[in-house]
This record gives sequence, C-alpha cells and structure tokens, in this order.
Amino acid sequence: MRKKTSELSIALFMLIIGVILTGIKPGIGFSSQGSIPAYSSYASGHGPVNNDGVASHSARVGDYSVEFKEQPGEGSRKEPVKPMIRDGVKSEPCATYVIYINWDGFAYRYYEWANSPGGPGTPVLNYLASRGALFTNAYCGFPGTTVPMQTSIVTGAWPAVHGNTHLYYDPSENVVEQMNRENSSETIAEVVAESGLPSASVQQFALEGRGTWPNDPRHLYVQPSGSWHERVTEAIKILKQAPVKACGGQSVVVPEIPRFLAIYADDLDATGHNLGINYGFSLALNYEAWRDRLVRKLAYMDSELGLLVDALNDLGILDQSAIILTSDHGMSYFKGETSLPDVLETLGELGYTAEILSEGEEASPCTDIVLVGGDLSLQFYFRWDITLPEYNEIIDALKKKPYFGGYMSLHELAKAGAHPDLGSLFIWAKPPCHFSPGNLRLRAGGQHNSGDESSRRVFMLLSGAGIKEGVVVDEPAAIIDVAPTISHLLGVRKPAGSMGRVLEEAIAAH
Ligand SMILES: [Zn+2]
Repeated sequence: MRKKTSELSIALFMLIIGVILTGIKPGIGFSSQGSIPAYSSYASGHGPVNNDGVASHSARVGDYSVEFKEQPGEGSRKEPVKPMIRDGVKSEPCATYVIYINWDGFAYRYYEWANSPGGPGTPVLNYLASRGALFTNAYCGFPGTTVPMQTSIVTGAWPAVHGNTHLYYDPSENVVEQMNRENSSETIAEVVAESGLPSASVQQFALEGRGTWPNDPRHLYVQPSGSWHERVTEAIKILKQAPVKACGGQSVVVPEIPRFLAIYADDLDATGHNLGINYGFSLALNYEAWRDRLVRKLAYMDSELGLLVDALNDLGILDQSAIILTSDHGMSYFKGETSLPDVLETLGELGYTAEILSEGEEASPCTDIVLVGGDLSLQFYFRWDITLPEYNEIIDALKKKPYFGGYMSLHELAKAGAHPDLGSLFIWAKPPCHFSPGNLRLRAGGQHNSGDESSRRVFMLLSGAGIKEGVVVDEPAAIIDVAPTISHLLGVRKPAGSMGRVLEEAIAAH
C-alpha cells in the first residue's frame, strides 16, 4: 500500500511538472457573464462608513467620481497586448510604488451584492476600478484555504510548487497533519528586497520573515492586529514615514516610502465564517442576514480604503502608485443537516469502510478510505491499490446525490497545481449542503474549502500607475498571476517558482 502511494505521488509529481513546463493553466474557469458590471450604475456620493456599515455625512470618499474611458464590457480585448517582459529580465518600472492589499475571503459576488440596487455601493473600489482593471473571473486554487492561497499569491505558485496544502493524511505515519506557514518558494517581497527596493508588510503574514522582517526598517514587517481600520492606519503611518510600533514594541520609522507595501485584513473572512462576534458584528441566523452583514462589512472596508487613497494623494504619489486588491478565496454559504453520514453510508454500500479524520488523528486498521476536510469538501485517501473502475464507481455513486456539488479527479487536481498530498479525489458539497461533523440549525455557516464558484471566484482589481483605465476583464485570471504582475510593475524579476503570468490585459502601454 505504501509503495502504491509513493507511485501515485511520483505520477502526480510528473504530471505537475508537465503542467508547469507546458504552462497549462488550470482548466476551471467561469462562464463569462455578458451583463454590465454592477458598479457602472453606481452614482458617487456615499460618505465614509463605520465598522457597522453605516454611512456618515462627511463625504470625502464619495467625492471620487467614476468616469470610464472605455465602456464596461468592451474591455481589454480591443487593444492588442504588447509583450512587455521576458522572464528573468529586468525592465523599466511601470509603477514607482505598488500597494498589494489582501482582504481575506473577499468573494467577487460581495462586490456585486454591494453594488446592486439598494446596496450601499463601494465608491472607493469603483473609483479605483475607473482608473484600473477589474477582473470578473479571477479564481483561487486547491485547497481554497487561507495559508496555501495567501502563499500562492505572494509566490505566484500553486501548492504543488510552494508545498503548503494545509491539511492532509500522511499514509506512512498514518496520521492527519496540519501545516503552518511552510513555503518552499520565493516570495515577491524576497525579490523586492534582493532588488534593493524598500518594502513593508502590514500583517501580510505570508511575507513575515520572507522578504519583510520585524527588525528591518527598510523591509519592515508590522502586526498591528485589530480591524482593517487599524491596519490601514498603520499603513498610512508607514507611507508618511511616521513612527510605527514594530513587533517588539519599539518605535520604527521607515527610511524611505516603501516601493512595495503589502496590507492584509481578515474582517470580511471573519464576517463570512459567522462564528461569533467579530469586529462589531453579531451572529447572522439566516442567509439574508449573513449576506446583509457581508455587504455592510464591505462598505466599511471600502470607506477605510478611501483613507489610504487620500493619504497617497496627500503625499503626491497617487499617480505613481499601482494598487492591487485581491483575495485568497471566496466564501460559500451553508446550513442545515450535514450530508457527511450519507457519504459514509454510500461508501459503505459499495463495500468500503470510510472514516473522517481531523488533525492528529490516526486511521483504524480496518479503514479503507480516509476522508479529510469537512465543512464543504472531502479529500479522499484510498488505503489499497484502487483500480480505475473502483475509482469511477465511487464518483458515480456520489454524483447521484442531491448534495453533490462537484469533484476533482487525481488528474484534474494535478493540472490545477494541487499538492499530491491533497488526496486522490476531492469532492465538494452543493451549497447550502455541507459535510460538517454536525447539523447546523441556528446560525448561518460560511466556509471556503470548496470547488464551488462562490468559494473559488475572488475579487481582483488592479488600479493606477502602469494599469489600463476603466477596463473590465472577463477572461480567466488566477491569484498566482498577481506576483508576476507586481514584478512587471516594479521592473524586478519574477519569484523563482512563479507559475503565473503577467496580467497583460491590465497593463498599459508605455
Ligand atoms: Zn482566507
């Protein structure tokens, strides 16, 4: 059995290398919607919004007007894209400053909800979209879990290359392991530091000790904690070269304005998970309340983002700055009875003993199939030499279930850049169904370890220096494209393991 597993791993590894070498993108895309993006109908005039999503009367943020140089939907396809960078070759920077903002768990549809009729709007994002490129089909990889995907963004590589796959079953040790921040790939911040450019990270933990450091004022890592407001305030202090508190508590002033600044905030993710009182929100009990809280939280995030834009403007560097805002994964809603017992029963009917395991747990000797994951998806580990007919029989039996949302086969997982340890089969529940250990009766659930579009499609916006203005890109993009695009904008090389592409559709001719 162990031999078989290693053979499978080798086969997977070869597949992945094949994928990397041939540059094939993961085949999961989303149907391109021909409708007019929600924000195009938004009229400016909303004021700043507090942490409960309530607008106030002062209107500085709302002063931004939305003017499209191109009509939404006509987008980038009109202009032929000029090849602008060759691998490993430095080019002239298109942007003096690059600010990479990550709002953890920012599903693209939140943006659509907020900008639909009756919604609070997102005037700052809309303003940035008017001077940038909005990607309507940007997606994350597998697993859609925070650390692997945050790592994918900063390295430009999928888990098969950077090595972080979060939770997995180790057959040789017969135990389920959970990873921390393991990352064997180079980060964009390490490239920036090596290139001699000043940088900083405000709580972007994937760059902590990986290109930014708590004790290095020129490549500073700070961790203010708290809400997005605290983090944006800290970022503004760094940009204005005001004293900030380093992780050791001492005061630090950065010697120059960072050319690369990363900011991370998890307010939206916490609201989406709906596990308790987070940053001023109480529990949502149903879908409508859940969605409403997310929309209000996004309005707050947007308002505070305006402070950052204002600060760049005050410093006179707004036009030299590219702002990239994206996320590690989306969020799927779930509720009601768990479908996990039926999965175990279905596998039992086929003659297999299946067991779901959490971190640190071991499989019993009679277990045929180890299942790892839960909530929205299940990773399958077969403990015998499974044949193709057996493999297909399992998929066919599960496909008939009303809760079945979809699956990725071994081959598809490899093509999508998943780590071989993610398992030999990955299935997910159709929202609002789920595979949690218990039923979810009272509160609304939110989770993102799913292949469903709600979990995979993320917000992605590039705006400002070096970026085309008012472009809506419907072509698929991946979060691994962010790091090579930052490299391009700053005129530095790509991170060594980068598999992504420069998002040429968004790059302005210069
Ligand atoms: Zn996350």
